[in-house]
Amino acid sequence: MTLCRSCAFVRLTQGRHGQTYLLCRNEAIGAKYPPQPVTRCLGWAPAADTPPPSPAGPGPRHAG
Ligand code: SF4
Repeated sequence: MTLCRSCAFVRLTQGRHGQTYLLCRNEAIGAKYPPQPVTRCLGWAPAADTPPPSPAGPGPRHAG
């Protein structure tokens, strides 16, 4: 599961053939379409009514 799905900065966009893309709107992240799945990210912020991710691992870091 990617962090982007629970992030306030993500926007779902749809391609011409119906495929769904995760667009990152966080300007602090270099990639508009970060490689998925993103498992750690410095820019993650909780979307409305989304619980924070589990604090496993050494700390937040962008995986892409
Ligand atoms: S800030 Fe990080 S977690 Fe949020 S959408 Fe962008 S890449 Fe995904």
